[in-house]
Amino acid sequence: MYVYLFEEGNSKLRNLLGGKGADLAEMSGLGLPVPPGMTVTTEACNYYSAHGKFPEGLEKEMLNKMSMLEKKTGRHFGDGENPLLVSVRSGAPISMPGMMDTVLNLGLNDKTVQGLIRQTNNKRFAYDAYRRFVQMFGKVVIGMKAEDFEAIITKHKTRLNVKSDVELDSETLVQIVNDFKQLVEQATQKGFPEDPSDQLRMAVGAVFESWNGRRAIIYREANKIADTLGTAVNIQTMVFGNRGPNSGTGVCFTRNPSTGEPVLFGEFLINAQGEDVVAGIRTPKPISELNREMPIAYQQLLDLCRLLERHFKDMQDIEFTIEEGKLYILQTRSGKRTAASAIRIAVDLVKEGLITKKESVLRVLPAHLEQLVHRQIDPNYQTRPIATGLPASPGAATGRVIFDTDEAHRLGADGESVILVREETTPEDIHGMIAAKGVLTSRGGMTSHAAVVARGMGKPAVVGCEQIKIDPSSTSFSSGRNTVKKNDIITIDGTTGNVLLGVVPTVEPKLGSSAQQLLGWADEIRVLGVRANADTPEGATKGREFGAGGIGLCRTERMFNAQDRLPIVQSMILAATDEDRLDALERLRPLQKGDFKEIFRNMHDLPVTIRLLDLPLHEFLPKYEELVADVASLKATGTNPDLLDSKQRMLRKVITLSEHNPMLGHRGCRLAISHPEIYEMQTRAIFEAASELVKEGINVHVEIMLPLVGEANEVRFLRTRIVKTADEVMESTHSKVDYKIGTMIEVPRAALTAEEIAQYADFFSFGTNDLTQATFAFSRDDAEGKFLKDYTDNGILKVDPFEVLDRKGVGKLMQIATEAGRRSNPKLKVGICGEHGGEPSSVEFCHQLRLDYVSCSPYRVPIARLVAAQAVAREKSGKSKENL
Ligand code: PEP
Ligand code: MG
Repeated sequence: MYVYLFEEGNSKLRNLLGGKGADLAEMSGLGLPVPPGMTVTTEACNYYSAHGKFPEGLEKEMLNKMSMLEKKTGRHFGDGENPLLVSVRSGAPISMPGMMDTVLNLGLNDKTVQGLIRQTNNKRFAYDAYRRFVQMFGKVVIGMKAEDFEAIITKHKTRLNVKSDVELDSETLVQIVNDFKQLVEQATQKGFPEDPSDQLRMAVGAVFESWNGRRAIIYREANKIADTLGTAVNIQTMVFGNRGPNSGTGVCFTRNPSTGEPVLFGEFLINAQGEDVVAGIRTPKPISELNREMPIAYQQLLDLCRLLERHFKDMQDIEFTIEEGKLYILQTRSGKRTAASAIRIAVDLVKEGLITKKESVLRVLPAHLEQLVHRQIDPNYQTRPIATGLPASPGAATGRVIFDTDEAHRLGADGESVILVREETTPEDIHGMIAAKGVLTSRGGMTSHAAVVARGMGKPAVVGCEQIKIDPSSTSFSSGRNTVKKNDIITIDGTTGNVLLGVVPTVEPKLGSSAQQLLGWADEIRVLGVRANADTPEGATKGREFGAGGIGLCRTERMFNAQDRLPIVQSMILAATDEDRLDALERLRPLQKGDFKEIFRNMHDLPVTIRLLDLPLHEFLPKYEELVADVASLKATGTNPDLLDSKQRMLRKVITLSEHNPMLGHRGCRLAISHPEIYEMQTRAIFEAASELVKEGINVHVEIMLPLVGEANEVRFLRTRIVKTADEVMESTHSKVDYKIGTMIEVPRAALTAEEIAQYADFFSFGTNDLTQATFAFSRDDAEGKFLKDYTDNGILKVDPFEVLDRKGVGKLMQIATEAGRRSNPKLKVGICGEHGGEPSSVEFCHQLRLDYVSCSPYRVPIARLVAAQAVAREKSGKSKENL
């Protein structure tokens, strides 16, 4: 069966009937006032995509079901007395707003238009419906240009000296229909299809075609939607919102899609068709005014919204039409929403008893939390906006003003920050919107294309900013006395709707109370620990604020780079004798101790993993080329012999330290094997800091971590020295510090010999940045910039392995190491601290591997907490994305 009447389907058939079709079926089943109709399945679309024609019997099935619709409505398709008119719309299994096209009033021709006049007693209305049909059919089905139709309307308006379409009388509309049809004839060399069955066949075919149209493909690529899903086609009896002052149409969200506030939110237009609302051509009224204008319909709408929410257990985005006082629901779907709204709704629905905590946690996407931790404009920054529009999608974005979509696309691809400025956007602008940092439009409401799409992408957007007037040449816009030219920098604030000149300071974002609540539930559900990677006291505090259960990686070399330390580090490296080196290390120790003390204090009661020095020493010295140039110029001028001498010494050392493959070179624990005094100094600093805090009564849990281990004896060698130093400090300070010694696993050999290594380690932490580099033999500094894109473009790798953990290779090594390590040391704690520790799919994998914790940047901590809980919820429901 390729065609289902609405009442034959249900919401479970989403893949077959598409989202819209499944929801219409479900609503019909609930007895809601849905105009009767049918859905052509995605299977039929897929057949069409594969074979370029309808499957056998599809047309007959459509016409059979059409006769059932005729029985239900008492109207007849193609009838000159009482015609049945339908809309034809696409509806993929995953909502693709504005991606696919719609044809309304299908079934009209020169004969049936007479019937429509008879039905409605309104010739103007009938011909207006007819011209809309020919116009949409021409554009969507035949692929003609919208401007050519608009030009005809404009011609008639100019001739009659009227401004709006509403002023066109029925005779003019008759002429417009004729002109339109002639235009179609010229374009196609064929007459306009008069037979409604031909119209239907062509329209369904066009929807199938549009699945493989440019803008649909771009949207799917951007949103990672599979091409194989196909789209369904919904054919539905027409109801008219433009039958007079007692009719209207609108869209509404059952809750506010920007904030999540549980109040009806939306817009409507009296005496209009749905098109008019979405297109942003006429400015609609807020939905609350419907209460005043049509109180009965409004009350009915409120009741239906409540019922739909209770049934679908989610916020709904509803299209409705009121035809002569009678309310119809045309469409309902889960409403697109901002991050803040998604979180508030997920939390409120639990409080209202509609969903469980686990469901609530699954409702929020990692990307939602990511938006919430986006920077916002500094509230203390005093500046006047040059204009204010509607706050359609929150967050601040700064960039060059670009008016042309293709140009925005091009510049965005080159890494430029661009704000796309348009009067309004259409699906044709999608690629420019994806490439831009933010979107600003001068027309349209909160449900206009720009608003809906930007919100879905989590991209800052200000829409309907009527104060700005875009110059017709698209080289500048003006707002009051300000003129902003193409390429000028502006900042838009999608949270307030403000448009500001230039770059504006932004502030750290904060998680609101709903997010805290949701993350609290996530913490109850998850079993995986979440820690933060932090190298500074401030980073540690931020991590704690975001809910980190400790620090999983504190990279000590970051501390060496600070202004006051670099010269000391350099003198340590340049030291001619052991004595000189020890002297430099002694000067570094108090500085390191100070850092550790602050971090331990901020993280009291929680574990802090300090990684001992990892980077190759030459990274702390000036670049070879710079030194050569300095030496040459100092020699030439001969003015500063002392400086010349020190530069020459430095140059000689740089030459000595230079390595062909520094990332595989003298770094990490290897450095400490050659110079154990460096780790001894660091250990001393750690234990002195910890002892002082322990005496203050602060709980410190130190974890000392060794980098780049590949052999158990390395750990054994260093462990002995660390323990000795720790004992010395604790003895001399009469204190006891709780500590562990562990190792990173970032060399494949370490993973393969984990059973031995674990005998000397209290914990493992996977350094998946290096482990990915070493497993693939891809240089982590070069591969992404040089050739990895060719791998992903050609499908050789699905994703960048430095971003998303490679389960098959790197993951396999992790599994081997975890199992082997725990075998020889059952108390072994295992975590991850590479960049993957905050990437959703990798976090899920770490849960499946049963690691003890993931550690990631403080800003990704909330995401990791959420995903760790989602992994448990999915596992229980058997819906894990990819199992081990
Ligand atoms: C790693 O290699 O994954 C790691 C965390 O260490 P770094 O990035 O400092 O080399
Ligand atoms: Mg590393």
